[in-house]
Amino acid sequence: MDVFEKLTTYDYEQLVFCQDKFAGLKAIIAIHDTTLGPALGGCRMWTYASEEEAITDALRLARGMTYKAAAAGLNLGGGKTVVIGDPHKDKSEALFRALGRFIEGLHGRYITAEDVGTTVSDMDVIHMETRFVTGVSQAYGSSGNPSPMTALGVFRGLQAAVKEVFGSDDLAGKTVAIQGLGSVGYALAQSLHRVGSKLIVTDISKDSVARAVAEFGAQAVEPDEIFHVQADVLAPCALGAIVNDQTINRLRVQIIAGSANNQLAEERHGDRLHELGILYAPDYVINAGGLINVADELEGYHADRARNKVEGIYDIMLRLFAISKEHGIPTYKAADRLAEARIEKLKQVRSTFLPTSRSLLTHR
Ligand code: NAD
Repeated sequence: MDVFEKLTTYDYEQLVFCQDKFAGLKAIIAIHDTTLGPALGGCRMWTYASEEEAITDALRLARGMTYKAAAAGLNLGGGKTVVIGDPHKDKSEALFRALGRFIEGLHGRYITAEDVGTTVSDMDVIHMETRFVTGVSQAYGSSGNPSPMTALGVFRGLQAAVKEVFGSDDLAGKTVAIQGLGSVGYALAQSLHRVGSKLIVTDISKDSVARAVAEFGAQAVEPDEIFHVQADVLAPCALGAIVNDQTINRLRVQIIAGSANNQLAEERHGDRLHELGILYAPDYVINAGGLINVADELEGYHADRARNKVEGIYDIMLRLFAISKEHGIPTYKAADRLAEARIEKLKQVRSTFLPTSRSLLTHR
């Protein structure tokens, strides 16, 4: 594997290999771009089949974080850690403390958080070694469970999409089909019910479906039927790659707006949605509420301030719909443009001399 070729393709800044034999740590920290600020991104623990697979995942996820933070208007760059190991068998205090020391060694260029395979208590262990970690226990002043904020962001993004398509963001009487009634999907259903939307729901958990039927008067359908129901909006809140060759031509909605990551199986499916006239709310923009919330910890967590920023997903979404229309491009491409434009503009801010010790050194 040619690592530098991989790094130059999308202009990554840094790839850090962390090893501690006695702690059993093998981890990779990828930092994509820190133009806007320190790279923030979760720590994923996974049984990768090969080192190459782990590197590729770290790089892909780190770059995704650059775009997500930039589009959300945060002063953060993109990074990610992957720990090679089985989260059910290979965790130990020593492992996460060793990782914490490597993160501390980056002096704040990278800040970690929970991700697939890691938990709040793992972050607490990392926190014993470094300040550069978010998503620790609330006792340490953290922001707590991100899902309600993610759901709020999805609700606001969905309102913006409805405004774009129907001319008003009023969700009363609109029919929303929700796939997945977990932490985000259930909270979204609750908000939509409160404003008078009609709900069609599905989940592989029969109990979750029964609860939504009882509490919100939702209509229940089988998991494989949700893509083909007649509704105004499809809100995918369960799995990735749900817009694919099997589902796309049978969709009977005008909008797709939900929390799931990587909703398009391939980019061409985003192009096809554009051709079909189905408005797609790009996943990494509409589901940024959790990231916005956790990023607020860096300034001393303030719930109302975080909530206000999450509400801003409404305006961001309208802006990217405008870019999509102006340039005749699909919305997923408009989201990338919005993020790239912000990074490029801030790169060009004049490097005026600042009389700090660091700039004195660099101007010598
Ligand atoms: P969750 O695990 O709490 O809920 C997922 C729900 O989907 C579960 O109820 C599960 O039973 C259901 N499900 C799984 N497979 C299904 C299928 N085939 N058909 C129907 N339902 C199915 O997860 P969550 O935290 O609510 O997150 C939902 C999605 O949003 C995930 O894709 C996640 O990556 C993404 N996301 C979540 C957050 C957050 O803050 N929680 C932030 C960003 C993105």
